[in-house]
Amino acid sequence: MIKGIKGVKDLLPEETPRWRFIEETARRWADRYGFHEIRIPIFEVTTLFARSIGASTDIVEKEMYTFQDRDGTSLTLRPEGTAGTVRAYIEHNRGAVPVPQKYFYFGPMFRHERPQAGRLRQFHQFGVESFGMADPRSDIEVIALLWRLLSDVGLQGLTLEINNLGYPADRDSYRPQLVTYLKQHESHLCSNCQRRIEMNPLRILDCKVPECRALTEQAPRLADSLSEAPRAYSAAVLRGLDLIRIPYSLNHRLVRGLDYYNLTTFEVTAMNLGAQNAVGAGGRYDGLVETLSGPPTPAVGFAVGLERIAMLLADSAIRTSAAKAVVYIAAFGEQGSLAGLSALEDLRVCGISAVSDFRSSTLKAHLRQADRLGCSFTLIIGDDEVTKGTGILRNMVTKSQYDLPLAALPTAIQPLLTIS
Ligand code: ATP
Ligand code: MG
Repeated sequence: MIKGIKGVKDLLPEETPRWRFIEETARRWADRYGFHEIRIPIFEVTTLFARSIGASTDIVEKEMYTFQDRDGTSLTLRPEGTAGTVRAYIEHNRGAVPVPQKYFYFGPMFRHERPQAGRLRQFHQFGVESFGMADPRSDIEVIALLWRLLSDVGLQGLTLEINNLGYPADRDSYRPQLVTYLKQHESHLCSNCQRRIEMNPLRILDCKVPECRALTEQAPRLADSLSEAPRAYSAAVLRGLDLIRIPYSLNHRLVRGLDYYNLTTFEVTAMNLGAQNAVGAGGRYDGLVETLSGPPTPAVGFAVGLERIAMLLADSAIRTSAAKAVVYIAAFGEQGSLAGLSALEDLRVCGISAVSDFRSSTLKAHLRQADRLGCSFTLIIGDDEVTKGTGILRNMVTKSQYDLPLAALPTAIQPLLTIS
C-alpha cells in the first residue's frame, strides 16, 4: 500500500465542512474590509524566498522544499504567501492601479518541520496583504480583520500581542547592545541561539527554549532604542485599536520569524493550543517590495494557520452552506428506476439537492440509506407509481406520506419541503 507523506494530511469529507466554514467566514470578513482574492502559484524560483524571508531564518535555513527543475533552475514550494504576492504585485505593476491594493489568499504552504499537532509539512493559510498605505490606520484595519474573523469563527481565549520593531536604523543601534548582553550569557543559551548571536541576534528574543526566554527577559529592550518616528507610529496604532475596542497586550520580544518586518508586528494566540499556540501573525513590511526590485511601497499583512483554527473549533460552532441532500429517491423496477433517474435530475436542476444509492433494490434498504444520509424526505417510485404517474413522498421524521405527480415534481414538492 502506498501511503501519504509524513506531516501531509488528507482532509476527509467528515472534516471538510469545518474547513468550508472557516473559509467562508474568512471570505466574508475579507469582503467587508475590502480585500480581494489573489491566487498565486504554489512554486516559485528559490531566490524569491531566500531574498524576501531572509537567509538566516528557520524557514530558509532548514524548512524549504527545494528542487531542481529539468533545466537546472532551483525551485521551491512556497513556505508562505507574502513573497509570491509581492512578486505578483511587482510583476503586474499593481502600484500603478489608483486604488489601494488589498489582497487575500488561501492555500497550502510547505515547510519541512517536525510534524506534531498543529505543525505539519503541508499546511494551509489564509492571509491578507495591504499595499501602498504608510498609515497606522492600515495596520489597524489589518489587525481588526484578523481579530474579527477569529472571534467570529468562535475561537476562545484569544490574545493579541503587539510590538514595534522600528526602522532598520533603530535595530542597527539596538543590535550591539543586545549582542553585548547575549555574549555575557552565551553559555546559557541553546545551541541554536549561540549560533544566532552573530548572524541574527534579534531572533533570539523569539526563542521558545525556557532558559533562553529567562535570559532575554532581562535583556536590553528594543523599545528603549526606538527613535521618535516609530514611537509615534506605534502610539497611533495602539490608540486606534483602543478606539475600535480591540484588546491587545504589548510583547517586546515579538520579533517574528521573518526578516522583512518593520514597525508593527503582531500575533494572535488562542487558549488550548498547547505549545503551538499561535493562530496567526503578521506585521508591516515597508522594505520588501523594494528588496524584490519593485518601487518603494509600504505594506502590511498577516497569515493565519487554518489547521490550528480547525483544531480549536467545537462541532457546534460550525455553520456552513454545505447542505445535506434533502430528498432521497427510492426507485425500483425497470420503469421505476428510469423514472427515479428523471426525478433526481428534475429536482437537481430546480435547485433541490437529491441523492440515491443505486445499489439498493428493496424499500427497506433504500430507507436505511436515506436515514444514514440524513435526508429529510424519501420519494418512492416503483413500477406501479410510474403507471399511476405519482410518486410517494415520505417525511422521514413524521413518517407521513403524500402522493405527488411525477410530471410536475419540483413544483409539487417545493411547498412540502419548506414546511418542515
Ligand atoms: P510558529 O512559531 O508556530 O512556528 P511561525 O512564526 O513559523 O509559527 P508564520 O510563518 O507567521 O508562523 O505563519 C502564520 C501561521 O501559520 C502560524 O501562526 C500558524 O498558525 C501557521 N503555521 C505556521 N507553520 C505551520 C505548520 N508547520 N503547520 C501548521 N500551521 C503552521
Ligand atoms: Mg515556524
